[in-house]
Amino acid sequence: MLKKVLIANRGEIAVRIIRACAEMGIRSVAIYTEPDRYGLHVKRADQSFLLGDDPLAGYLDPLRIVKLAVETGCDAIHPGYGFLSENAEFARLCEKNHITFIGPKSSVIAGMGDKTAARDSMRKAGVPITPGSEGNLADLNEALTLADEFGYPIMIKATSGGGGRGIRRCDNAVELRQQYPRVISEATKAFGSAEVFLEKCIVNPRHIEVQILADRHGNVIHLYERDCSIQRRNQKLIEIAPSPQLTPEQRDYMGNLAVRAAKAVSYENAGTVEFLLTGNEVYFMEMNTRIQVEHTISEQITGVDIVREQLRIAAGLTLSYRQQDIQYRGYALQFRINAEDPKNDFLPSFGRITHYYAPGGPGVRVDTAIYTGYEIPPYYDSMCLKLVVWALDWEDVLNRGQRALDDMRLHGIKTTANYYKQILNHPDFRSGHFNTSFVPDHPELLNYSDKQHPSAVALALAAAIAAHTGW
Ligand code: ADP
Ligand code: ADP
Ligand code: MG
Repeated sequence: MLKKVLIANRGEIAVRIIRACAEMGIRSVAIYTEPDRYGLHVKRADQSFLLGDDPLAGYLDPLRIVKLAVETGCDAIHPGYGFLSENAEFARLCEKNHITFIGPKSSVIAGMGDKTAARDSMRKAGVPITPGSEGNLADLNEALTLADEFGYPIMIKATSGGGGRGIRRCDNAVELRQQYPRVISEATKAFGSAEVFLEKCIVNPRHIEVQILADRHGNVIHLYERDCSIQRRNQKLIEIAPSPQLTPEQRDYMGNLAVRAAKAVSYENAGTVEFLLTGNEVYFMEMNTRIQVEHTISEQITGVDIVREQLRIAAGLTLSYRQQDIQYRGYALQFRINAEDPKNDFLPSFGRITHYYAPGGPGVRVDTAIYTGYEIPPYYDSMCLKLVVWALDWEDVLNRGQRALDDMRLHGIKTTANYYKQILNHPDFRSGHFNTSFVPDHPELLNYSDKQHPSAVALALAAAIAAHTGW
């Protein structure tokens, strides 16, 4: 087994990984930059190292991180998600320095991180891909010609994109002429690559992704699917496992397809194969070669600790489960509670958390790095808490989600929590019929009141005090 792991990340995912290490008797090393001095991952790890004043540079410095791992006697690095998690150069540097990168081989990261290369390998493996350009686009003219061939609407997508950025839908040639340079400039700024490609836009699809686990000995299994159709601007807000809108045949088909995709590229460790589903048509969209934000809901329905499996796989052990051991039970929902103001175009709302009370009770899980008094730094992702609920039935998980969101108190910043209550109450969501257009199609769900209703207990207490003091 691994003895000591450096975690090249921050926030809730760093804490999640530290927790898995602690349960397995593995020592953990955290890194942080000055704005994260009071971060929970810094307090919780066995050792923590400051990597400078710049909020980001320390987390994005492959050489420094690998050197620190060597110096502190770590045998592995867990990259989490975001930051260097899909950086093939970083994985290569780990390999060169005999530090185990907890993820697939650097060549596989490179092949899958490049979305056009990934489409190519999937086409060869017989996995259906979204119709689109064969490789990257040479110029606007090629885009215009292909768009005519496939028919509008089409999407222009950054080849090295991620996190929902670098994607634009074009409904006609005028829009394509406008958007094409915008995607290129966004891709250059955000991902350091100007390469873009074209995909046919699948209208009103469902985003269905399959969690897979693969060890070094050729064993590949899937942990069923997650429905991530509730998105805003291509970013996930609420995730569901399993999807309430798949037939058993579709479920089996997609699970097997994901395993085939992983095998085709000799995948190793945990990964996610993302598909678009429309009617009975399934299209491969991309593969994320890392732990994903919403891995929690697959854990809740299968009972498999995915991070623990990642650490075991990295240590060279065989998977703890065969496919037939994986059963799913009930439904799980994850709410990404973001420090954003939905009523103000989801503007980030960073600042001090003056009061935080965690929801609890049966079937409730919270993954977060916040605490009362913590100041959310403005330099990072706005997601500050993942609220996960589980129940045996669909109806029950919806009610439990509502109850858990009611339980939670998070004061001092604006969050998306109250907005999610509106989504939970919508008949289309409750009936399990929704696609990626649900959020843009329901702007009226933003018309709610942010005022806290005083609880019955608080009202009774106020009445008792008033009666007692004559106030
Ligand atoms: P997931 O894919 O796990 O559902 P996201 O797409 O929200 O979650 O990505 C998780 C985090 O990683 C976000 O902070 C996102 O901005 C970041 N991220 C994902 N892909 C990239 C990328 N290619 N380049 C930079 N950041 C990325
Ligand atoms: P990222 O790497 O940023 O996660 P993806 O390729 O996974 O990018 O796409 C993110 C989201 O954008 C998808 O979940 C889906 O909602 C939407 N999307 C991407 N490609 C298409 C497409 N061809 N047709 C319709 N929607 C798409
Ligand atoms: Mg994606």
